[in-house]
Amino acid sequence: MRTLLLGLDGATFTVLDHLVGEGEMPNLENFYRHGTRSRLRSTPLPITPQAWTSLATGRSMGHHGLNDFVRIDLADGRAYAHFNTAKDNHCETLWKYASREGRRVTVLNYFGTAPPQELNGQSIPGFVPSRYLRRSSWPPELIPELKELGTIDVSRLGLELDVEKQALSRMPEERWLPWIDQHIAREEAWFQTLEHLMVSDPSDLTIVVFDGVDKVQHLAYRFLDPSTTPANPSAWEAQVIERCRVYFRKMDEYLGRMIELLGDEARVFIASDHGFTDSTEVVYVNKWLHEQGLLFWKEEQEVDTKEAIYVDHLKDYLGQLDLERTRAFALTPSSNGIFINVPEEEYAEFQDDLVRRLGTFLAPDGGQVVTEVKKREEWFAGPYMHHAADLTLTLRDFGHISVLNGRETVVGRSEPWGTHHPDGVLLAAGEGIRQGHEEERRDILDVAPLLLHSVGLPIPAEYEGTFPREFFEPEHLAGDPVLIGGATQAPGDPDPAQEAQGDLDEEDQEILLQRLRSLGYIE
Ligand SMILES: [Zn+2]
Repeated sequence: MRTLLLGLDGATFTVLDHLVGEGEMPNLENFYRHGTRSRLRSTPLPITPQAWTSLATGRSMGHHGLNDFVRIDLADGRAYAHFNTAKDNHCETLWKYASREGRRVTVLNYFGTAPPQELNGQSIPGFVPSRYLRRSSWPPELIPELKELGTIDVSRLGLELDVEKQALSRMPEERWLPWIDQHIAREEAWFQTLEHLMVSDPSDLTIVVFDGVDKVQHLAYRFLDPSTTPANPSAWEAQVIERCRVYFRKMDEYLGRMIELLGDEARVFIASDHGFTDSTEVVYVNKWLHEQGLLFWKEEQEVDTKEAIYVDHLKDYLGQLDLERTRAFALTPSSNGIFINVPEEEYAEFQDDLVRRLGTFLAPDGGQVVTEVKKREEWFAGPYMHHAADLTLTLRDFGHISVLNGRETVVGRSEPWGTHHPDGVLLAAGEGIRQGHEEERRDILDVAPLLLHSVGLPIPAEYEGTFPREFFEPEHLAGDPVLIGGATQAPGDPDPAQEAQGDLDEEDQEILLQRLRSLGYIE
């Protein structure tokens, strides 16, 4: 059955239901009526690289190895950041498996598809600057062919660092509308690419991600969530609200057109990698660890006054810590992680004690700041477990920790800031899917089984999710039973396509790291 996955990075029902209720997304409303929906629980660390990779591989981070945008290697008292690429994913993607089994596949703007793999079909990666798009796409002639059409602004498919950088910390009011508009234009280029490929070279499995949902919500979540949207907006606020709605109206138009292009004999799935909410405070974990007598700086640290969360020079940050005495520290906001620095024989006891102490970390209002502490060996068990920090924290407002020194351990934000919520969305409609049905919550690992069943393939035995039977009519499953197959092929030997395309050179890595800084995740 022809199958399409529309990935909406960071989509949440809080926003979508509100917009549907206001009549802004008629195609999505129709989709609700004719399909099944549920909240979708993201990966233990609910961020883009880990979540999309788990969705694509049906495996948890301990197996695929992609914890975060960067992998932090600690050596010689320094922290080295390695930007994760497709080569750091140690499990086979569902589209590679489907391609191997003779299905035609199209994968657009998905995280972690560069350098590309040889496919029966085509891929253009997400998170790659435009000047690398050609060599990062499959087949190599795809980008030149799209350019030749003359109808698609192909350069927009790349990530535009200058644009993203503007979203750094606080953007001046006059930059908001052009910035949102640039994301609208970028999505249009992706949609035109998708439309062209759906018409000229239709696939059995088509996957496209629109990541502007995440970008727009990081900036403007408080104008999208009905609980925080101002009742009497200023002229500027009203313009921002309207421009965000234009963004979502466009998404709705694209959804309608995709369904039209697929025709009747098809299934459409919509999934997000995580949801969204707003962060209202900055949590200075290293300051708290210092107060607990677990972290010591060599010299007095400057106190952050800008609600910042990351350090300027990650590589040198460890050098500022007195590692002789420091027993626990945080390095990057995106990982929400604490590293433990004690001799092996003390580790288990120290870890338990730290988990207990984190439970006593209280905000000035008396509330518990850390609502969940995930031990690496419990949540990320597998050969790549060491890519996660020793402890991964969930904060009460779901924000990212600050690794800077703070005036207090918890400081309220002057304005709420969009952040990831662990619950995203999963929707399905089409042949055999139950109509107007709602499930409580599914796991992001359940999506790969759903997609593979839809294209008529057995679900690999090592997949960790559960097939969501409730999404289908019982009669459908009786006629088209769910099959369990053998193991996937781990990408052991280098893929000839990846070899031919080459690795990112140092300059490219630097550009991608800049991108992460621009998103406020690292350095
Ligand atoms: Zn995301």
